[in-house]
Amino acid sequence: RVEIKDIGKVFADHTAVSNINLTVEDGEFLVLLGPSGCGKSTLLRMIAGLELPTYGDVFIGERKATRLQPKERNIAMVFQNYALYPHLTVYENIAFPLRVRSVEKKLIDEKVRSAAELVGLTRMLNRKPRQMSGGERQRTALARSLVRDPDVFLLDEPLSNLDAKLRHSAREELRQFQDRIGVTSIYVTHDQVEAMGLGDRIVVMHAGTVRQVGTPEEVYLYPADTFVATFMGSPP
Ligand code: ATP
Ligand code: MG
Repeated sequence: RVEIKDIGKVFADHTAVSNINLTVEDGEFLVLLGPSGCGKSTLLRMIAGLELPTYGDVFIGERKATRLQPKERNIAMVFQNYALYPHLTVYENIAFPLRVRSVEKKLIDEKVRSAAELVGLTRMLNRKPRQMSGGERQRTALARSLVRDPDVFLLDEPLSNLDAKLRHSAREELRQFQDRIGVTSIYVTHDQVEAMGLGDRIVVMHAGTVRQVGTPEEVYLYPADTFVATFMGSPP
C-alpha cells in the first residue's frame, strides 16, 4: 500500500504539484493520467525518492518514506528511455541489479530465469539488445526491475517510444503480467486509451492537482468537470 498525504512540489517560482492526497491499495494498478506538464513525473519521482517534496509525506506500507533514499524504499522504476546495456546479453542485463549487490550466483540464476519466464524472454537470454524488437527490450527492462522483488512498481510512460502497433501489444502484455504478479503499480501516461486499458483506477491530473479519481468507467462516463470530460473524450 502506498499513501500520499497532502504532497506538493514547488520549483523556484513554479508549482509542479499541489496538495495531492492518494492511496494505492495492495496489488492495485493505478494510472496517473494528464496532459504534458501537469506534474505526473514529479509526483512519481517523489514516490520513488528521486525528488524531495516541498511539503507532505509518502508512506510505503506502514513506513514513512518521505526522507528515505530510493534504494531504501524497495521500489522499482521503469522509465520511458529504459536504458539497457548494449554490450550485455539479456541475461546479463536482467542480472545486473543483483550483481552490483553481490548476490550469490545461484540465486541470481534462479531470479533471472523466473523473471525472464514471467515476461516471456526465456528463449532470448543470450541475445544482445540490438538483436531485439522494442517490445522485447521493454520486457527486458521490466524483468530487470522485477528481479529485486519490489513492493511497488513505478512506470513513467514506459511504452512511449514504441510504435502504435507494438504499443498496443505491449500494453496487453503489461496488463496480463500485472494480473499474474499482482505488484502494486503506479503507471504514468498522457494517453487516455492506455489509461482506460490498464488502470484499475485512473487519477486525472491537471496543473499539479487531482481532478478526479475513479475506475475507467467512472472517469469516462461520469467526468467530474469539463476538463476531465474533454480530456477523456467522454460522451456528451
Ligand atoms: P510530461 O507528460 O510532458 O512528461 P509531466 O506531467 O510528467 O509532463 P512534470 O515533468 O512532472 O510533468 O513537470 C511538471 C511541471 O514542473 C512542468 O511545468 C515542468 O516544467 C516543471 N518542472 C519539472 N521538473 C522541474 C525542475 N527540476 N525544475 C523546474 N521546473 C520543473
Ligand atoms: Mg513526465
